[in-house]
Amino acid sequence: MLAAHIRLLQSRLATLGRYAGPLDGTRGPLTDAAIRKALPDLGTGLPPDWQGWTARRLAVATLQLVAKSEGIDPGTIDGWWGPQTGYAANALLLKADTGRLPDWRDIAPSTANPNAWPTESNVTAFYGPHGTPEGRRPPLVKVPSPWTFRIAWNLAQTRSFLWSHEKTAASVTRILSRIHQHYGEQRLRDLRLDIFSGDYDPRLMRGSQTRWSMHSWGIAYDFDDTRNQLNWGADRASLARPEYRPFWDIWEAEGWVSLGRTKNYDWMHVQAARPD
Ligand SMILES: [Zn+2]
Repeated sequence: MLAAHIRLLQSRLATLGRYAGPLDGTRGPLTDAAIRKALPDLGTGLPPDWQGWTARRLAVATLQLVAKSEGIDPGTIDGWWGPQTGYAANALLLKADTGRLPDWRDIAPSTANPNAWPTESNVTAFYGPHGTPEGRRPPLVKVPSPWTFRIAWNLAQTRSFLWSHEKTAASVTRILSRIHQHYGEQRLRDLRLDIFSGDYDPRLMRGSQTRWSMHSWGIAYDFDDTRNQLNWGADRASLARPEYRPFWDIWEAEGWVSLGRTKNYDWMHVQAARPD
């Protein structure tokens, strides 16, 4: 918990008439006593054993309950500081500062480009000619995946690799390994990050007669298309939810671009080319 979170907690406790100490962002005995008094007023969701929790855990639980009461989902009220609680705490701070809740525009996608991926208009110069349905193929490499993918259009079918342009293969290898390390097998499945919806695919961009899709070079991937449909914004697309931020952070740290994070459509899609 940051001092800013504790200060916000102190100010909410003061509003509830439970705290008269300074709003100093330090959790001392006055704050802890106020938390114990205020917790039963803060609504439902506290498990029955909360009285036995440590002062720190009670403080986190209080923050979770405050978030919940202000329309921000903190996850389970358990007093543990996980990624969802971190998101809720920061959303509370933003709301206190600006009066509004965070939306996708508050996500600043990273502008890092350590592999010097080209802009979309320079993909041919950088990667060579795109593939064609008639059979011309860019130089493709099979990148083994640390977890097994299920194929979106036939979930009984699995695959354990992604096709990648040879120039992006090393980057894809690092990215898959980091994603796997971050989430682990079970969480990847729970979040449907094992649902493969496309890699190399020589075709025109959807809705265009002339422009080739980035998939035609083997430099784009789609995930879980049924829950991230082309024209859906962050209000509907599952990949816009906070639990997927580490997934996107890992791609973006390697210079890949999420159309969802940058343009708020096609949330299923990530590519190794920068928008023009
Ligand atoms: Zn795509």
